Amino acid sequence: MIFDDFRFPFDQSKKLKDFDPAYTEELNNKKEANQYLKDGTEKLKDLQARLFAYDKYALLIIFQAMDAAGKDGTIKHVMSGVNPQGCQVKSFKAPSEEELNHDYLWRCVKALPERGKIGIFNRSYYEEVLVVRVHSGILVNKQKLPNLPDDPQNHKTFWETRFEDIRNFEKYLGNNGISVLKFFLNVSKEEQKNRFLKRIDKPSKNWKISVGDFEERKYWDDYMFVYEQMLLHTSTSYAPWYVIPADHKWFMRAAVADIIISRLETLNPVYPKVSEERKNEIEKAMDLLLRKE
Ligand code: ATP
Ligand code: MG
Repeated sequence: MIFDDFRFPFDQSKKLKDFDPAYTEELNNKKEANQYLKDGTEKLKDLQARLFAYDKYALLIIFQAMDAAGKDGTIKHVMSGVNPQGCQVKSFKAPSEEELNHDYLWRCVKALPERGKIGIFNRSYYEEVLVVRVHSGILVNKQKLPNLPDDPQNHKTFWETRFEDIRNFEKYLGNNGISVLKFFLNVSKEEQKNRFLKRIDKPSKNWKISVGDFEERKYWDDYMFVYEQMLLHTSTSYAPWYVIPADHKWFMRAAVADIIISRLETLNPVYPKVSEERKNEIEKAMDLLLRKE
């Protein structure tokens, strides 16, 4: 790990504005970062194979970000070397009618990774304290909650309860061998604008344009407020948030890979030991195989 252990994790002594979206120290340029990422994907491949064989832990990686911060590209690049059978990605959009008939964690619980696997959430239950807080009409008009306070957007206790539930849920996951890693890809407002403009310029990127995303920029400051609240209340020792500088995609991808590797190394999954009895069985099977040919 070339990054300072204390650089990206969010803790309660920090503010979101302490994190520079354009930060690139430690990696001098794109070429160096890409080589670092390439080496990283090799390590990830090996660690994922060990995680699978060990079959006790799962790793849940959550990505949250403003639009165009680069969630999709980061997932694609960082996981590029990993066996697709050991990894699953789930994207969470606005909930369906069926999903709204359940508690908000329901759809996420269904998508949790099995032991031995890496599960990636592209957005997650954190939308419940982000978009739902910025547009609290969603709460009032869509979510069929009992005892909703008047003016939920400004009802501190309502959000504190959600944060507490989320912390408890993640604690429970950790206690059950599902290790939780959370990334907030921190893009600046200016860089988001550049990326939107590039999408308009490049015909191959036109399909990504959503006018709604442009409109959401009006709420930028509200989003920064709710993101900071989320970080403050849900960054814990067992499921920390990492605030990753996202203005330079090459830096962001290398940093994310590095942190995933570090977490997997901490879990230290090992190949199961083969017992003497099993070794004998294997030898016998080999004899049989050779004799038949
Ligand atoms: P991309 O645009 O790169 O395809 P995306 O994640 O932005 O990826 P979209 O379909 O554009 O995908 O957006 C999904 C939308 O669903 C986002 O605006 C998000 O805020 C919204 N969403 C996700 N979860 C919830 C939720 N629980 N309640 C309300 N809206 C949600
Ligand atoms: Mg989108």
